[in-house]
Amino acid sequence: MRILVQKFGGTSVANPERRVQVAAKVTEAVSQGHSPVVVVSAIGRSGDPYATDTFIKMVSGIYSEVPKREMDLLMSCGEVISGAVMVGTLQSMGLEAVLLTGGQAGIITNNCFGDARIIRIEPEKILHQLEEGKVVVVTGFQGITEDGQITTLGRGGSDTTASAIGVALNAEAINIYTDVEGIMTADPRIVEDAKILDVVTYNDICHLAHQGAKVIHPRAVEIAMQKNIPLRVKCAFSDAPGTLVTNIQPDMAEGSDAISDRIITGIAHTPNVTQIKVNIINEENKTQAVKKIFKGMALADISVDFISVQPEKVLYTVRDELGEKAVNILKNTGFEPEALPSCAKVALVGGGIADVPGVMANMVEALAESGIEVLQSADSHTTIWVLVKKEQMVSAVQSLHKKFQLGK
Ligand code: ADP
Ligand code: MG
Repeated sequence: MRILVQKFGGTSVANPERRVQVAAKVTEAVSQGHSPVVVVSAIGRSGDPYATDTFIKMVSGIYSEVPKREMDLLMSCGEVISGAVMVGTLQSMGLEAVLLTGGQAGIITNNCFGDARIIRIEPEKILHQLEEGKVVVVTGFQGITEDGQITTLGRGGSDTTASAIGVALNAEAINIYTDVEGIMTADPRIVEDAKILDVVTYNDICHLAHQGAKVIHPRAVEIAMQKNIPLRVKCAFSDAPGTLVTNIQPDMAEGSDAISDRIITGIAHTPNVTQIKVNIINEENKTQAVKKIFKGMALADISVDFISVQPEKVLYTVRDELGEKAVNILKNTGFEPEALPSCAKVALVGGGIADVPGVMANMVEALAESGIEVLQSADSHTTIWVLVKKEQMVSAVQSLHKKFQLGK
């Protein structure tokens, strides 16, 4: 059996016309001899009646607190609706299809409601339906615990569903269909001349996705990489080849004009973070103080990022909505923190950064030329990060894209 996983995001299944286009992609796969497993997200985006965000809004701020278990039950409904509608669309186009929820498809997760991890997949049920000659539609973004509780996988989790199924079934490929033509050098909503990347490595895209390029979920890339299953990001409404994510170095991929001397793969951004600054200059035992700061965050389940420990101060970022909580914890443990909300992280990502001198200098120059203040910076062998004010984020991404000529 030549299994092909095809995942369609919320905008791809947003209305009947689009769903017909999606179904045509499935028909095409069948006519090419594939057995498709179709993973769907909930229909539409925030504001649409059956979108996940709409369900969240129905309860958030209205009731004091809906338990996480029940929130997951609520959030898992969008994909069920979408999946049933997709089966209807496929049937109307002459394909025999069946819908399996995450649990029915054998996607077993841990019990971390809202952000569950897939522990394993029991592929027998999907395989059985495929062997019967049916197109199997699977609800994205959800699974089931060992004791039968429905869980969700966190935002963007349908990508993870697709990859995990692809790996479990040893699929020929995993195609992630979305509303853009592929993975680009920056978010095309921000950078007009962002360029489609023909071929990229799992590693590069993983970094880019971790830094905020929401075109694909980083976990989905990590999972596909485990078994080296080719991952393609394609547009649901065109025949363009999209982006191939694989293990091969771009310059070795046959038939690709991908750039062999590519230093930078792309630029990603994450808005809505708060910078926290804690003065430790007067602390007698600095190591102990640093430990106390981060232990406080960990105990409150606040994930921290962009950490910089200096002799006189400690800097780090948290998501905006956790800023106040973080500050209160620090104050209660005897520190005097300063918080700067509404910042954004901009990351320049590329496997070649470490080997080429002057990348940082060019980055600083580009930002200075555009009058952008760098609040904090850090680098690794594949990424350089800067923290800027949120209102300067778009301009920062655009000026870096131009400086490094990523649109060419
Ligand atoms: P889906 O609903 O199909 O999962 P998403 O909204 O999650 O779609 O992802 C697609 C969006 O990702 C695009 O509309 C685009 O604005 C955004 N995006 C961010 N960074 C990139 C990038 N580097 N390349 C392509 N798209 C990107
Ligand atoms: Mg997505």
